[in-house]
Amino acid sequence: MTKITKSKFGNTPDGTAIEQYTLTGAGGAFCKIINYGAIVTELHVPDKTGKLGDVVLGFDNLAQYLGKHPYFGAICGRYANRIAKGKFALDGKTYSLAINNGPNHLHGGLKGFDKVMWKAAIVESKDGPALKLEYTSADGEEGYPGTLKVTVTYTFTEKNELRIDYDAVTDKATAINLTNHSYFNLAGAGAGDVFGHVLMLTAKNFTPTDDTLIPTGEIKSVKGTPFDFTSPKRIGQDIESLFAQPHRGYDHNFVLDNQGKELALAARMTEPKSGRVMEVLTDQPGIQLYTANFLDDTRGKEGKVYGKHGAFCLETQHFPDSVNHPNFPSAILRPGGRYRTTTVYRFSVG
Ligand code: BGC
Repeated sequence: MTKITKSKFGNTPDGTAIEQYTLTGAGGAFCKIINYGAIVTELHVPDKTGKLGDVVLGFDNLAQYLGKHPYFGAICGRYANRIAKGKFALDGKTYSLAINNGPNHLHGGLKGFDKVMWKAAIVESKDGPALKLEYTSADGEEGYPGTLKVTVTYTFTEKNELRIDYDAVTDKATAINLTNHSYFNLAGAGAGDVFGHVLMLTAKNFTPTDDTLIPTGEIKSVKGTPFDFTSPKRIGQDIESLFAQPHRGYDHNFVLDNQGKELALAARMTEPKSGRVMEVLTDQPGIQLYTANFLDDTRGKEGKVYGKHGAFCLETQHFPDSVNHPNFPSAILRPGGRYRTTTVYRFSVG
């Protein structure tokens, strides 16, 4: 039987209490989520001997989450990933957003969904209890048009799956792209680089970028490039060819073969020593592989040090800067429409 319990995580400087929810699955595996930033703070899954280990990077105190950090475990929005020069036109009007990443807009701006309070409730779902988190983003917040009502529901199922259901409606046409920005290391958070992890992606194409990580618009075949993960390949095998600026490793959007039609396998990551396997299923058209290229010896949970390439993110998403690329799947939500998408992180051993 899965269950959800609630405890206190800390207080913000203005006295707001932040709660932590523990979602327990089968066999003792569990994850912890806080109502600030809808952040997954811990995720403990078994290795091949049955031993639980925490496979996500993060902090054990609220103060560090309130400080500057690279979106550990958080929900990113209103538009995750980049918008070129922070500008886009919609229905004849141009919108200007914060420039917070070189010349571009990243992960929703100065105060994105990763830095807001979410209203939490424990609800019943067909997979047992689920944690429902709600946030209303005001019209004009961070420069985006429309009041956007967002619900993110986390379920930790009997099958050791962390399921994330996203739902949103708007009262004006707007841009939307939501993702979870967990940093995984299947050998355990803080266990060194992830070069020995083996990755398979169901993506025959990717979106090359310019020097500021904005897609050029081209949909390019991965064949014969370091981006070919169509057969399982060590993350470290070809990464060195990407070490130069601006990427410093993998930081690219892959075009999923399934193209957002239904929930389908997008990625399978295996860590040979622990035997841990993580599969990502999504109905989104893209996935960003980010190998934590900018991690800089951050001190995390239990005092562990998180160095460069010490984790990977697999962020399910619409393509970066879709709002400026008519040939990319549309990331525009209109009144009367509904943004509904699901991503599952499934854990097993192999
Ligand atoms: C981006 C990276 C960025 C990281 C943390 C990723 O989604 O693609 O370029 O450094 O988030 O901000």
